Amino acid sequence: MPSALETLVKILKLERDQGGKNTAVVGGLSAYANSWQPQAREQARRAQHHILIDEIVDSLTAYDKIDSEDARIDKINYLLNRVTDRQKAPPAYQKRLAEWEKKLGSQKDRPPRQKRGRSSHEHVDRRPARQQRGGNKGRFHAYDNASYDEDFTGGPSQTKLDIPPLPSLNRPPRQPRAQLSLEEQLALYRELEAPTTDIRGIGNTYAELLRNLDIHTVRDMLYNFPRDFVDYTRLTCIKDLAAGQTANVIATVQRAGTSVSANGRMDLVVWVSDDTAKMSIRFFSQPFLSQKIKRGMQLLLRGKVSEFRSMASPEWEELDLDNLRKIGIVPVYRMTKGLRPRMLRRTMKVLTSEWENKIPDPIPTSVLDRGELADLGWALKQAHFPDGDDHRRHAQQRLAFDHLLMLQLALLARRREWQSAPGTPLIEDTDILKRFAAEVFPFKLTDGQKKAIQEIQRDLSFSTPMNRLIQGDVGSGKTAVAIVAMAIAYSNHKQSALMAPTGILAEQHYRSLSATFAKMSGPDKPNIALLTSALTADEREAVYRDIADGAVDIVVGTHAVIQKGVEFDDLALAVIDEQQRFGVAQRSQLRGKGGNPHLLIMTATPLPRSLALTYYADLDLSIIADKPAGRREIETKVIDPAARERLNGFVVSQLEQGRQAFFVHPLVEKSESLDTASATEAYEQLSQVYYQYRVCLLHGRMSAAEKDALMADFAAGEYDVMVTTSVAEVGVDVPNASVIVIDGANRFGLSQLHQLRGRVGRGEHQSYCFLLPDSSADIDIDRIRACQAGELERDAMTIAEQRLSAMEESNDGFELADRDWQLRGAGELLGTRQSGHLDFDMLDPGNSELIKEAQYEARTLVEEDPDLQLPEHHLLAAFLRQLYPADSELS
Ligand code: ADP
Ligand code: MG
Repeated sequence: MPSALETLVKILKLERDQGGKNTAVVGGLSAYANSWQPQAREQARRAQHHILIDEIVDSLTAYDKIDSEDARIDKINYLLNRVTDRQKAPPAYQKRLAEWEKKLGSQKDRPPRQKRGRSSHEHVDRRPARQQRGGNKGRFHAYDNASYDEDFTGGPSQTKLDIPPLPSLNRPPRQPRAQLSLEEQLALYRELEAPTTDIRGIGNTYAELLRNLDIHTVRDMLYNFPRDFVDYTRLTCIKDLAAGQTANVIATVQRAGTSVSANGRMDLVVWVSDDTAKMSIRFFSQPFLSQKIKRGMQLLLRGKVSEFRSMASPEWEELDLDNLRKIGIVPVYRMTKGLRPRMLRRTMKVLTSEWENKIPDPIPTSVLDRGELADLGWALKQAHFPDGDDHRRHAQQRLAFDHLLMLQLALLARRREWQSAPGTPLIEDTDILKRFAAEVFPFKLTDGQKKAIQEIQRDLSFSTPMNRLIQGDVGSGKTAVAIVAMAIAYSNHKQSALMAPTGILAEQHYRSLSATFAKMSGPDKPNIALLTSALTADEREAVYRDIADGAVDIVVGTHAVIQKGVEFDDLALAVIDEQQRFGVAQRSQLRGKGGNPHLLIMTATPLPRSLALTYYADLDLSIIADKPAGRREIETKVIDPAARERLNGFVVSQLEQGRQAFFVHPLVEKSESLDTASATEAYEQLSQVYYQYRVCLLHGRMSAAEKDALMADFAAGEYDVMVTTSVAEVGVDVPNASVIVIDGANRFGLSQLHQLRGRVGRGEHQSYCFLLPDSSADIDIDRIRACQAGELERDAMTIAEQRLSAMEESNDGFELADRDWQLRGAGELLGTRQSGHLDFDMLDPGNSELIKEAQYEARTLVEEDPDLQLPEHHLLAAFLRQLYPADSELS
């Protein structure tokens, strides 16, 4: 979805290009102000935004009354400058700032932060495991302002140290930028690429150690963020230590001595105490530490409390009381043998201080203003050595934003590349749509389908080729949408192609397309051809000829259609079914077919919206979130493998009614480490269990043609039971199938389980999905039930249990995708954790606001200055080129 600002910029520029004739939108700009305002308000986050909206709405409303075209263009230019913040708000509007702030006030204020400092308790992180993960890895979580549970600050303070509270910081401070020429700034960027040995204090040995951590340049160094922080302002008294807790303690050494353990190991045992109690510490196999740890020394200790008042090999550091105030929050870096934490910390301190005021900031200040984002140098410094939790949060926010913005910009550049060559505008023919509704579709389109069709119609009407992805759950009716698009191409006397992942799906599409278009009244109907490997060479040649000379209007085939030697007469639209990504290489192949066809991609693997907006930033998204009326939910149950007998009884009762069943197994061949019976073995067993029925086996090792043939036979009712692996994920419609049994269900991801479940419930029959976990998987069905009943916290379930439970609770692919995101993170969800510079873990649910913000800003930037050629964007362009060289594949 474009941001309100983006849409506005587009329209303002169009209006300017059209000479200020008030023709950019139907009805004129004044009328447009009314429809634009609500969307803009919804996206506005701060008082400044609302003032800008006030002003824009006022100006647009008055626009109709401006009578000279020159004056109108002046107005437009002025507004464009206001939107991009080159021009400050006039005083009349600035005066409203306080008003808006008051209005927004209560709901937007963060809860007051807890007073810190004297508390003697270690902060215990109670966030769910997934959220914590980020912190441990040093990833960024925009809204990671972990609130500290009030109830955990109890207990009298016993620490004698009076540590001042960490400073809090509502908004990040911003500095005026150094007035450097572009050349000077680029020179500084080159300095960032210098080897680490250029840094004072880093010699060859040190550099070698850093190389082990994949740190080669100054930039690597600055962007090597801590994997964790130790907050030495949160201390625990020895008296209050609980076993299992990780704690920071300040204590004085009472005595130290080596001790030989039963197996001959030499340990150093140190007794320490604070005002409240004593504790023993054992440093395994480090007797030499007795040289360093002396009686009377004060130590800062961090470690896990192993049992009653003792720690084993904690991190330690001599406490320098004078220094304590400065210690505060200390970064913990990834380490390699030979590298000393304190040494690296010291280097980082110097380095970040040096670059704090030196690093050129590529992001325009107007963007930072809108997002309330910190300066880059400040953020880099604070990301390593935060003055407080707020500082760290602002720093991480800024750096995460950079990452997201750069990714968006790179993807948008890719889209521009695709759209740089013009395509053929396909003018909408409302008659055809009315005819489709009246004659062709036996159903009423859902709202989601209608909206998708409208979006496609609009895209097709431009000479810029469409680049659209439709996301819709299985059975949401994506094909009907594609059919309308192809009908529009046909009514414009152009060819279209529909490509499916398998031959059998292509065949199914071919049949349903033929049946659908046959219902059109009148003699004028498209000529449809099917291209699969099942054709003889002669037949194929004939089809090729018909496509080349334009006798065929619609070609249906596998994805290979574009790769083979198919020449089109006049291809204007390519529809790609069941594919999420359509790579750069495939696009150029498609373009090689002549012209620059509009592209429509369909996927039944929904992604959560904010994730999709980033991952598919190079595509426009249409989302079909609703389902045709009257669809029945597939009843889903997690079943103890021990109850298989009863399950078989149920399946037989379905087969008796003439239904068909799928049995899914995660593996093809037996693997020693995994105890699930392989599909092959299961096939033999099930053939015995269901001996009165016809059982077949479909697995991944079969050729595409074999799979297609078998699937077709099953769909035709020649078998009752199909045993298969996850290859059945994308498949043909078998409306008569009503049961799917998934073995080893704990091993599948949530989206995959949902896809598999979509094999049934495609007809009029009530359908069922049974999930059987491996018996060794330790899935506790009673616990799942207790959590569902609210008797236990959800967190009591393991991740695998939560997945299975989610399947029982929801039939909605988008909702499940969202849960999957929460449970596994984006990397897992997208099937890849990292790709080039793109770190998908950054796309964390906790970041969704920031992701949206980066999306808006990137689009607005590109809309305003597509090639980032304006002087204020030069640095950004340079930064982008460094991150994503022109030829890099992004995913
Ligand atoms: P998918 O989105 O999974 O590709 P299909 O396009 O194959 O879904 O549609 C699934 C079934 O739903 C088809 O039989 C189709 O005819 C039917 N269908 C599509 N749209 C509607 C609708 N609006 N109302 C009722 N049935 C519909
Ligand atoms: Mg489909």
